Amino acid sequence: MTLPKQVLQALAGIVGSQSIRVSRTALETYASDGLPTHHRRPGAVVLPDGRDQVVRIVEVLAHHGVPFVARGAGTGLSGGALAGPDAVVIVLTRLNRIIAIDPSNRHATVEPGVVNVHLSEAAAPHGLHYAPDPSSQTVCTIGGNVAENAGGPHCLKYGVTSNHILELEVVLPNGEVATLGSRGGEPWGPDLVGLFVGSEGMFGIATRITVRLTPIPRQIQTLLADFSSVRAAGEAVSSIIASGLLPSALEMLDRACVAAVEASIYAAGYPTDAEAVLLVDVDGRDAGAVQAEAHDVETILREHGARTVRMATEESQRARLWQGRKKAFGALGRISPDLIVQDAVVPRSALPDVLERIADIAATYRVKVSNVFHAGDGNLHPNINFDRRNRDEFRRVEAASAAIMSACIDAGGSITGEHGVGIDKLRYMPLMFDGDTLAAMRATRRAFDPEELSNPGKVVPVHACREWSAARSLRRAEVVA
Ligand SMILES: Cc1cc2nc3c(=O)[nH]c(=O)nc-3n(C[C@H](O)[C@H](O)[C@H](O)COP(=O)(O)OP(=O)(O)OC[C@H]3O[C@@H](n4cnc5c(N)ncnc54)[C@H](O)[C@@H]3O)c2cc1C
Repeated sequence: MTLPKQVLQALAGIVGSQSIRVSRTALETYASDGLPTHHRRPGAVVLPDGRDQVVRIVEVLAHHGVPFVARGAGTGLSGGALAGPDAVVIVLTRLNRIIAIDPSNRHATVEPGVVNVHLSEAAAPHGLHYAPDPSSQTVCTIGGNVAENAGGPHCLKYGVTSNHILELEVVLPNGEVATLGSRGGEPWGPDLVGLFVGSEGMFGIATRITVRLTPIPRQIQTLLADFSSVRAAGEAVSSIIASGLLPSALEMLDRACVAAVEASIYAAGYPTDAEAVLLVDVDGRDAGAVQAEAHDVETILREHGARTVRMATEESQRARLWQGRKKAFGALGRISPDLIVQDAVVPRSALPDVLERIADIAATYRVKVSNVFHAGDGNLHPNINFDRRNRDEFRRVEAASAAIMSACIDAGGSITGEHGVGIDKLRYMPLMFDGDTLAAMRATRRAFDPEELSNPGKVVPVHACREWSAARSLRRAEVVA
């Protein structure tokens, strides 16, 4: 433990000795998130029970120059919620009150530790829901969703988290409390909410979040189509998007993923002999219009060689089909000691080629890759099952991950669609951004947090930005002189 004793005493004085963790065993719980390849044990963990405690904690840490990392449910898939021994993890799951639901203005104000699906459940009696629905929505928190700008299957039509956040109360890294945005609509001036959403905890801690609520669609039709090739399924996705239709969700699972789902308690009745299945939702107010749109989607699916297209309108049938998709990572997690859920984006027209490229990479590096992803958004999730204890296999998994990222960038895509950069993707940032751009990102970070105390060492690879390169050249020159 490297944290000064007086800091630990001050923290215990704020949260009470029962709400601070310092033992090696207790800290181990917080040494990972949803990605198994990174492990960092923090110096201490505190579990505040309200906003005022968060403010006092951050004030103490800022005073002593101690870095900190906010943590929601720890389902992140890029190592974003991890902290080293010199830092304190601030767990926000006890800040879990839904403060207000305002149905007439269609918004809700929540604390950051509210679990995503609990908000939709609370809004349902008003005919409303919180639209961004990550597959982890039964566990992940709205605070974590804000930090990662989370997406989800139905974000294709309804937009990702950034489209649904109106106002944020944030504790800045020096302990000051600021309000960004406005629940009444767009404020004048720079879009600070837009800047904070997706900033992965670099700018401070969101302690109160006002979100837009969206009417629950009255009519929903779900289609399940299966294909004898991944390419055909990918081409069907590109055609649906190119046709101007806008399904509310358009998801793909490949054969390996279907096999894992069907062998688990989440079995949804997907055909196990298909190379790929597409799960599509169309929704709206009017039954006739929804049926017509479902028919148009079906036509395109069949034109691209769908072997069968099943329709589900009953809620129980739809729920079963969607449970298989949303629990697919859990089903994959059963089949090996470790699972990496990768995340990247490609233009939708590039899907068929990139999926073939990923299959080639899997063969080259002899790793088991399966795909389940938000196909309509071009947001890929190649998953790699492996056993970390097998060093050779682990090296091949890391090399395959890097090759997949390069393939996505080559196709005009990006290294993350929704899981963030965290620690894991720092190494890929220079593949996408030059030194000047990274330096600009760092300067933005320092405008909020000059000491870089909030979630340090994440997102912006300091070593690659020009500022650092310049300092390095200077140091070299000094050495030579
Ligand atoms: C099975 C599974 C399925 C998933 N499916 C999806 C999906 O469909 N779409 C998707 O986008 N993601 C998905 N994820 C990834 C993950 O659930 C999301 O990134 C989610 O938003 C993380 O929320 P969390 O509460 O677990 O945050 P954590 O993992 O605890 O933290 C994530 C980041 O947010 C920061 N943070 C947390 N709370 C705050 C706060 N209040 N203020 C400031 N920063 C904060 C942390 O410092 C960290 O950098 C999935 C993960 C799993 C395990």
